[in-house]
Amino acid sequence: MTTRHPPTDRRDDRTAVSAEPFVSVRNLTTYYHDSSMLSSQPPVKAVDGVSFDVREGETVGLVGESGCGKTTLGRTILGLESPTDGTVLSRGEDVTDLDAAERGEWVRKTGMVFQDPEESLNERMTVGEIVREPLDAHEWQTPDEREQRVRELLERVGLNEEHFYRYPHQFSGGQRQRVGIARALALEPEFLVLDEPVSALDVSVQARIINLLEDLQTELGLSYLFIAHDLSVVRHIADRVAVMYLGNVVEMGPTERVFADPRHPYTVSLLSAIPGSASPWTGDRITLRGTPPNPRHPPSGCPFTTRCPAKIRPDEYDLDEDAWRALDALRSVFRTRSRDPPTLLDRAKRVLGRETVDDTVRAAVDDHVGDADLPDEVRAIVDEAVELARGGEYRAAADRLAASLGSRCDAEHPEFHRSDRRRSACHRAEPGYDDVRTTLERRHASAADGRPNDRRGADG
Ligand code: SF4
Repeated sequence: MTTRHPPTDRRDDRTAVSAEPFVSVRNLTTYYHDSSMLSSQPPVKAVDGVSFDVREGETVGLVGESGCGKTTLGRTILGLESPTDGTVLSRGEDVTDLDAAERGEWVRKTGMVFQDPEESLNERMTVGEIVREPLDAHEWQTPDEREQRVRELLERVGLNEEHFYRYPHQFSGGQRQRVGIARALALEPEFLVLDEPVSALDVSVQARIINLLEDLQTELGLSYLFIAHDLSVVRHIADRVAVMYLGNVVEMGPTERVFADPRHPYTVSLLSAIPGSASPWTGDRITLRGTPPNPRHPPSGCPFTTRCPAKIRPDEYDLDEDAWRALDALRSVFRTRSRDPPTLLDRAKRVLGRETVDDTVRAAVDDHVGDADLPDEVRAIVDEAVELARGGEYRAAADRLAASLGSRCDAEHPEFHRSDRRRSACHRAEPGYDDVRTTLERRHASAADGRPNDRRGADG
């Protein structure tokens, strides 16, 4: 096997990528419902209406923070999780609803390589047995031919004859991942989901495994869905990249175009976090505040609205970004409290006509808007909302803030905007708004000057 550069350069010996998709995902949705009959909790929306293709011979990189739904999406495509809605097509055939025989054929055409080679191999089996297991399960050819196939596979992934009878604990991390790849290739698949296949490995070992995956793709014409949080690796290996946030793909396009000119604020935040000169983002680092929302309770508008540094603001009020974020945070507290059932003490207080606002909400009001320099008209709206919260009407309090101070981003789920073989789900792609880069640069400059930032005509 040839050893090329570490995974920092875009590879130039591209496998021919067909225009035909091998896999087409359409509006795929995977929700997890509580198993308890008594639970009134909404489901966890792990994958929430995702559509994209992986073409024959293509590598699509799937990136996003931990918990955004990447692995669930990969597992649902392979049939390892049941979709709640939507379809997975392979060469036009629906593979989401197969009988047993068809399911076996789909399993044969696909495979998965897992993140942690320490965890994914059975320590009590020899490497030969591990790689042969899928061949045995599918009763592939004769036992002798299976053994021969295993030896060929070990050689193909850079291992050798003597490794056949060894156990996983006798291997390094990189060698164990080679075993995992050999096993995934056993049934001559056409499509692999590679779930963070190099994240647990040293950088030098990562490069060798990436090169191996590229060589195998070239030799065997494989299609890959490459799941990763390391964007440098994705830049090296992926033809196209899909950026995922809170169960949604928010941007997708040819890798170099997305890296050179990201159009979704979340993509910008990921690119700006790449350390040093490897980052393609030339602007300031974008640090997101807070954590992603609970996927049981995603925002009703844009999924990124609670953390977006480029969020569209209402045009009527002259506030700086800190004040807007404080108001967003207060509204978020009210929304969260509105989902919690009132305690017995709260109910008793309400019956007695006493205020039910608890210490958490009182502290939230003080923390977020207590000292904020708000114009009188904005302060009056906040006071009305706080008064509703004092009466235990948290939903009404959140709605009061949203009605006057909310954003279009809180209310409307953005559609995909397509151009230049790319798509991004952000209202800022529409005419009349500044684009994401311009907005972020302006807001950063405004914050540095300590002046309001959002009085730009139609833009917010
Ligand atoms: S729609 Fe609004 S909140 Fe969502 S990414 Fe675009 S600017 Fe940000």
